[in-house]
Amino acid sequence: MELLTLILLIIIVLLIFLLLKKERVFGMQTEFQDKKAQIQVIDNKDYRKNIYELLNYTPEGILILDKTKKIIFSNNSAKKWFQIKLNENISGFLRSPDLINSIDQAFNAEKSNDLEIEIRNPSVVRLNITVYLDKNNLFFDNPSCLLFIRDLTEFHKFQQLKSDFVANVSHELRTPLQSIKMGLETFENNPDLKNNSEVKNLLPVLTSQSERMENLIRDLLTLSKIELQEHIRPTHEIDLNELIEYVIKTYEKIVSKDNIKLNFQKIDNFKIIGDRDKLIEIFTNLIDNAIKYSDKNKEVAISLKKDGNLNIVSIADQGIGIPKESIHRITERFFTVDPSKSRSVGGTGLGLAIVKHLVSQHRAEMYINSVENKGTTIDIKFNAF
Ligand code: ADP
Repeated sequence: MELLTLILLIIIVLLIFLLLKKERVFGMQTEFQDKKAQIQVIDNKDYRKNIYELLNYTPEGILILDKTKKIIFSNNSAKKWFQIKLNENISGFLRSPDLINSIDQAFNAEKSNDLEIEIRNPSVVRLNITVYLDKNNLFFDNPSCLLFIRDLTEFHKFQQLKSDFVANVSHELRTPLQSIKMGLETFENNPDLKNNSEVKNLLPVLTSQSERMENLIRDLLTLSKIELQEHIRPTHEIDLNELIEYVIKTYEKIVSKDNIKLNFQKIDNFKIIGDRDKLIEIFTNLIDNAIKYSDKNKEVAISLKKDGNLNIVSIADQGIGIPKESIHRITERFFTVDPSKSRSVGGTGLGLAIVKHLVSQHRAEMYINSVENKGTTIDIKFNAF
């Protein structure tokens, strides 16, 4: 009995000891967790302070907005450009419906956006703004929207000067060129002059060179105009079935001469938002190249495809193809894989540079696939209407 009481006593003491120990361990743990939380809060604060400081040193203007579009942070560059008051609504000084739409899209659809806007500040300023949603609360306690602002005013002034210069020179060259062409036509229409042996040799060369110059002037003028309009979004509803059919019609004679098959597969309701003349320019250039760089008796296939909300136009030829190392360069101005081949088919080396700008103006994308001696496929991916 005494032994039993002793064992019971030992168990009770042990239990009390364990209970006391447990409390101490738990106590320590909550204390530890509290400390960890405190460190995290301090870390977060320091972390944000460091980030904000870093943002102050970036040359881009940076604004952070909360969900109500109130400015909660502005870096030094943005403060220098605009008179910003914290807690002011962004629409107070950057009045642009496109920008407000992009911010709404960022908050509501988590969609980042890149746009160009023009404002008066007090003179006209052209800004490029990237709108980015911080959904992980890195910059603020709630999701916030970051605006990265670049001032493109000087760059656009320079672009304008360059384009004006090219446009003026091209325009000025047109008049003397017309006179030269008229002179050549006189030779052509006068049998006595035409049959002179020297004239006979020179006339075809001069005629083809003047045609080349005319093409160059036309393409340079087109390119300089397009560059200045690239930021203007097209607004018309266009059915690509009808438009491509229209372009193909202009090539009927040329392809039947070389026995090239032009295949076009239509799809119902293939609409985009675009500019008719510019889309004609895009497809004329691409179909023209597909024919120019194909041998006789080959096929050029133009097909339409839907992929999600994309409307894709493919132009595929079975022509000479493009060497792998040149594919990334063919949209550069004046770049031609084989200059003598390009000249012999009336090329200027400017067609795809024009296409690239027009595609970008339509917020579309161009993909080039090519295998030498097998053929080239160019896909243009438009957003469907
Ligand atoms: P070009 O007026 O010389 O055709 P482009 O800008 O239209 O100028 O094209 C640039 C170059 O890309 C061409 O000179 C040619 O070498 C190559 N190229 C373009 N399209 C094709 C094609 N469909 N097949 C093969 N080569 C092509």
